[in-house]
Amino acid sequence: MKPSHIEHIGLAVRNLEESIRYWEQVFGLKCYRIEEVADQQVRTAFFKIGDTKIELLESMDADGPIARFIEKKGEGVHHIAFAVGNVEEALQSVQDKNIVPIDTKPRPGAEGMQIAFLHPKSTHGVLTELCSGSTNEK
Ligand code: ZN
Repeated sequence: MKPSHIEHIGLAVRNLEESIRYWEQVFGLKCYRIEEVADQQVRTAFFKIGDTKIELLESMDADGPIARFIEKKGEGVHHIAFAVGNVEEALQSVQDKNIVPIDTKPRPGAEGMQIAFLHPKSTHGVLTELCSGSTNEK
């Protein structure tokens, strides 16, 4: 596996609208998309900075993973996502190196991407997302 770039940085926030205002007013960025990802019980908002995005994550469920994260650690950096050509191959390659994935096969993420998370216990504390674009046919 060799990622091409950091696709996005996922930030856990309590209130999506308030956080969008921060990124728009302080950084002068424009939120170009808001999307609900039912699978992860989150509402997401996206900003582009070069090839990288900021992904804001607000829990839609008081018991969801983002809500639990904020309860434990407060708002802040939740995960880092790396763009890989093929999530399935990348997953296989990291598992061959004894890295423990949270997802053993790719699942649908925001923006039509295929994603899979690796467990922070085997990534030196960084919740790591592997993702590839929506065009998955080869
Ligand atoms: Zn993400």
